[in-house]
Amino acid sequence: MRYYDVVVVGAGPAGSAAARLCAGQGLSTCLIEEHGTIGHPVQCAGLLSCAAFRECGVSRRSVLHEVSGARIITAQGSELEFDAGMTRSVVVDRAVLDQEMAMQAADAGAEVRLKTAYAGRKGSAIRTRGVSGKGEIAFRVLIAADGPRSPVARSLGMQRPPVFLSGLQAEIRRDMDGRHVELYPDASPEFFGWVIPIGKRRARIGLAGTQDIPERFRAFCRGISGGSILHLVSGTVPLGVMPKTYGHGTLFIGDAAGFPKPTSGGGVYTGVRSAAHAAAVAGEACLKNDTTDAVLSGYERRWKADFGQELEFGLQVFRLRQQLSPDDIDRLVRLLNDPGMIRDIQRLGDMDRPGTIIRHLLKNPKLYPVLGILLKGGVRQIIKR
Ligand SMILES: Cc1cc2nc3c(=O)[nH]c(=O)nc-3n(C[C@H](O)[C@H](O)[C@H](O)COP(=O)(O)OP(=O)(O)OC[C@H]3O[C@@H](n4cnc5c(N)ncnc54)[C@H](O)[C@@H]3O)c2cc1C
Repeated sequence: MRYYDVVVVGAGPAGSAAARLCAGQGLSTCLIEEHGTIGHPVQCAGLLSCAAFRECGVSRRSVLHEVSGARIITAQGSELEFDAGMTRSVVVDRAVLDQEMAMQAADAGAEVRLKTAYAGRKGSAIRTRGVSGKGEIAFRVLIAADGPRSPVARSLGMQRPPVFLSGLQAEIRRDMDGRHVELYPDASPEFFGWVIPIGKRRARIGLAGTQDIPERFRAFCRGISGGSILHLVSGTVPLGVMPKTYGHGTLFIGDAAGFPKPTSGGGVYTGVRSAAHAAAVAGEACLKNDTTDAVLSGYERRWKADFGQELEFGLQVFRLRQQLSPDDIDRLVRLLNDPGMIRDIQRLGDMDRPGTIIRHLLKNPKLYPVLGILLKGGVRQIIKR
């Protein structure tokens, strides 16, 4: 049986970043991926803030388009538009991005094994199945980067994130203002729908939520394009972090831990940052030859200090959003359409850490006509924090 300091399960952005950073410290590292081609199937809109893209540490090869602002459009026809006047986010080809990140892990010295699936745990080894049949790989630290369904977490009986959204997305032909992402809160009442430009006359249209997703998606597409769908993807977005993100010699990172931002569903930024925290703690555990919870718990302390509060706040905002009717949303959008508040959004808005601008806006007396309803739902508590 082969033995490694670190075995990483799942070659998405989080797993490849973790494998690269572990191998870069001189740890013997193996990265396994159940699919034969990295990055497929694509289950992502590919919208990354410039900071999130930088965190991935890749070339610009995967960048398809640049975006500087957004438009929020309600079913009643109210609109809110803001534009930073400079590129704030990029739209990437996720397959190309994931492949480059896995290549970097291999370049750093990690052994990448494709078509090798995690099939269970046997003490300090994992059982695998794949092209070369069944196998076992021993490890000192296991990093679970196996996405929203996390077979590793399930096999170890770890408690899972509380919310799972379903997402559907298509590529369509569409003429639109290429500088802006469009957001449609009413397309999916628990979350929202999006249209993201990916170049001339092409866009990604999608939505996520908990109910009636195919029906809502068909209605949304009909309303927006009416034209042909060129590429269709579905996926799951876990919201709300699992109660314990380490244990059994294992660190849970990225979607496996429930790290997507509850306000947007974006998970690449937190996934790659959690990978850096996991790699640092895996390095420490191997150096001390101690992979007990006493050392591994340092991982949870690290990610919580980095983005824990942001995710907690985001989940509260997500729950409040469930209480808003389409009329509330429309009133909110009309009230936000104020030059001072738009300036604030442009100045303080941060896709990766939206807590700052949301807290700031919730304190503005101009929003009290709608906040009156929300105050009953606990906004007072969250804006105090
Ligand atoms: C419709 C949709 C749109 C989205 N849009 C955005 C967006 O615009 N921006 C953004 O930041 N995020 C977006 N996300 C979320 C984003 O896709 C995820 O947060 C991100 O991919 C998480 O990365 P990860 O490495 O943790 O997991 P994943 O990318 O899911 O990678 C997990 C890997 O583990 C592998 N795996 C699973 N099981 C096993 C096993 N048993 N053995 C071996 N390997 C296994 C999988 O094949 C996969 O390669 C979107 C999600 C959806 C569903």
